[in-house]
Amino acid sequence: MSNMNDVSFKGKRVLIRVDFNVPLDKDFKILDDSRIIASLPTIQKVISDGGRAIILSHLGRPKKGFEKRFSLKHIVKHLTNLLSTSVSFCNDAISNGESDVKKMNDGDVLVLENLRFYAEESSGDKVFAKRLAILGDAYINDAFGTAHRKHSSTYVIAKFFPKNKYFGLLLNREVNSLKTVLHNPKRPFTAIIGGAKISGKIDVIKALFEKVDNLIIGGGMAYTFVKSIGGNIGNSLIEKEKINLAKEIITLAEKKGVNLFLPTDSINADEFKNDTQIISSSIFNINPGYMGLDIGSESIKLFSSIIHRSKTLVWNGPMGVFEMENFSVGTKKVGQAVSLATKNGAFSLVGGGDSIAAIKLFNLEGGISYISTGGGAMLKYLEGKELAGVSAIID
Ligand code: AMP
Repeated sequence: MSNMNDVSFKGKRVLIRVDFNVPLDKDFKILDDSRIIASLPTIQKVISDGGRAIILSHLGRPKKGFEKRFSLKHIVKHLTNLLSTSVSFCNDAISNGESDVKKMNDGDVLVLENLRFYAEESSGDKVFAKRLAILGDAYINDAFGTAHRKHSSTYVIAKFFPKNKYFGLLLNREVNSLKTVLHNPKRPFTAIIGGAKISGKIDVIKALFEKVDNLIIGGGMAYTFVKSIGGNIGNSLIEKEKINLAKEIITLAEKKGVNLFLPTDSINADEFKNDTQIISSSIFNINPGYMGLDIGSESIKLFSSIIHRSKTLVWNGPMGVFEMENFSVGTKKVGQAVSLATKNGAFSLVGGGDSIAAIKLFNLEGGISYISTGGGAMLKYLEGKELAGVSAIID
């Protein structure tokens, strides 16, 4: 595998797997184009070489074939503006792909319709992958968001390009920043894990015990931990079947010599809405009838002081229900602490849809070393698991 920057794609048909899985509103307007922006350098490199860029992507989770709301046609105009070049669209890669690619000139861009309109994409069908592969002379994977999946266009297809497959510039940056964190972290190394539930993050928490000095736990999942050590958490979010697991994690942290920090206080509401009765209390003593929706000021102070002393930071998951203003302070302050630590020389990596949304909401983008475009893929990598899309390029 060589670096795509070391080759010229002049005159080549280049299949570029990107992640254009962007949120659209009901009128198909793009609500957040970060993923498109992130893939522009790779596309630009190919077309400025005089290559023909054939864009492959998915959008959403269509169930059975074509669904208008998931059509990639909705992004063509925006991509045209961003690249300042005309972009054409192929509405069916299998029936019209070859003829549409034949019409391309050097420097042209063609977007293929959402590959997930074919069931074969997600099942990793070889014949389907081959039919895509014949459209190109080279293959670039720049879709970090789906790099953990063994789909036709992210994994199987690479086998048809034994000599001409490359990491895209975005994928390369993602993997390098994750490598920095996992294999060469400056210490102290602190992970901040939040969000609603323990379930989706248990594997990463366990894996991080082998790497980090400090583990901060906030968000909805903190209440199950507090319950597991005898706290009264009122009506807060609880995963009853995970109480024992939470206790095990606390014990494991002690065994591994990792400092595990839970919130000490909590902002509680009598209803799950922004404008309601709100009181703060110790997180171990929440009134019955109230639910904890954010970390309190003491916890913010504690977490911020640990973050300020850290040299490597990984953050996934909000500290509270940050979508509601009254419960957004914990997430905002933790984000500001990460940003300040970064300004003082720490390396910070933030990933996951909600953490990125929070970073944007609080205008902290400039203060983070690396914002990962793929939450699921980032967690898988941090768990120490191989990313199929990455190994397919290295093989
Ligand atoms: P996740 O996808 O697991 O990272 O969870 C993100 C979601 O967790 C966000 O939508 C938050 O609103 C939610 N969340 C964070 N803290 C709490 C909490 N204390 N109670 C309920 N939901 C929460």
